[in-house]
Amino acid sequence: MDLIVQKFGGTSLSDDQSRRHVLRHIIRELEAGNQLVVVVSAMGRSGDPYATDSLLDLIRGRGDALPPRERDLLLSCGELISAAVLCNLLQAEGFPSVVLTGGQAGIRTDDHYGSARILEINGERIRKHLSAREVVIVTGFQGMTRDGEVTTLGRGGSDTSATALGVALKANIVDIYTDVDGILTADPRWVSDARPLTAVSYEEICNMAQNGAKVIHPRAVEIAMKAGVPVRVRSTFSDSEGTLVTNAQALRSQGIWYDRTVTGLAHVKNVTQLSVVNHDGPADLQLRVFRAMASHGISVDFINVMPTGVHYTVSDSDAPLAVRLLAELGFEPQVRRGCAKVSVIGGGMNGEPGVMAVIVEALTAAGIPILQSADSNTTIWVLISETDLAEALQALHSAFGLHLTPNRRNIEEEVGL
Ligand code: ASP
Ligand code: MG
Repeated sequence: MDLIVQKFGGTSLSDDQSRRHVLRHIIRELEAGNQLVVVVSAMGRSGDPYATDSLLDLIRGRGDALPPRERDLLLSCGELISAAVLCNLLQAEGFPSVVLTGGQAGIRTDDHYGSARILEINGERIRKHLSAREVVIVTGFQGMTRDGEVTTLGRGGSDTSATALGVALKANIVDIYTDVDGILTADPRWVSDARPLTAVSYEEICNMAQNGAKVIHPRAVEIAMKAGVPVRVRSTFSDSEGTLVTNAQALRSQGIWYDRTVTGLAHVKNVTQLSVVNHDGPADLQLRVFRAMASHGISVDFINVMPTGVHYTVSDSDAPLAVRLLAELGFEPQVRRGCAKVSVIGGGMNGEPGVMAVIVEALTAAGIPILQSADSNTTIWVLISETDLAEALQALHSAFGLHLTPNRRNIEEEVGL
């Protein structure tokens, strides 16, 4: 008997038809004899009656004066409605189930309303219900302070509820159900032959999530990674197994680690590149620039510091303030708006020669200038103009053969036996 945490996102719960699919996945696991904790998001997307954004719309533009504590009370309602609606369906099918709010499920958080951190989880109450053969439905995205105040975990926080519960309850797996067939090699709206991946490592998916891929919340992955709990990202609307997320070692021992250098692409738009050249400027130019950004809460990226000046990026929305601050310091920055950051991600690229050469070749052949680049041991980033984005993604996807189905190799081959 396995203990499984299933998490269903807003689009999976948005109407009767999708909730039927949700039921199907729950009943399948119950019939296989497994214990289930089901974490739910608020139903639907912005505009749907009980979606998180719709709840926010009730106060937005109407004074916007709701204090943070009361705002979290409002936001927590979406998940509660979702949970009760699902409980009704399960009971009607004859499956005993119970709804617990985050606080009732034992999720203790700090008191940072709107972006609370989970401090600890007491799984006793959930375990009691599981032993009584009940499906435990937990409202995602929320917890409770030690003083009994309701908190929310930040947008997209239901994923975090699910993996945190998975870790606390020592679940065998956390299944994140969404509206796509797992994790794809690139965003299919930009790359027509993007392909679902069978498995990725925690590091790879963290890099994807932090660099614009909207598959799973990066915090949720970090929590699962620390405890080594496997996660699967899969579709509510199909029976495909989706993408397994676990550590690279486990993937190897299960024989599902491919001979691949690059796993996937991610991208972020609306980036502005700022260059401040140091002709015979002040010796402390670097310090002044980055202090100014920091003291105004501007997050900087793609940072290149050289004796000849500094180059870095900020989001387009932070750009006007950043430029004004630089002007106030007496600098005349070069400003390039409308850039995009493309991430080439792969746990297998560490120490592999030639990855950057493939990137440069592919982009050069497509006539796309690289404005800046940076790298870590699992990702290479290039900054390009947003107008080149579609072509760049497609060119890189093809150059790394990401559209091809990789060969399965088993562990013996992997270690050369
Ligand atoms: N309903 C919350 C949100 O929209 C949490 C979640 O869906 O993960 O951010
Ligand atoms: Mg979500």
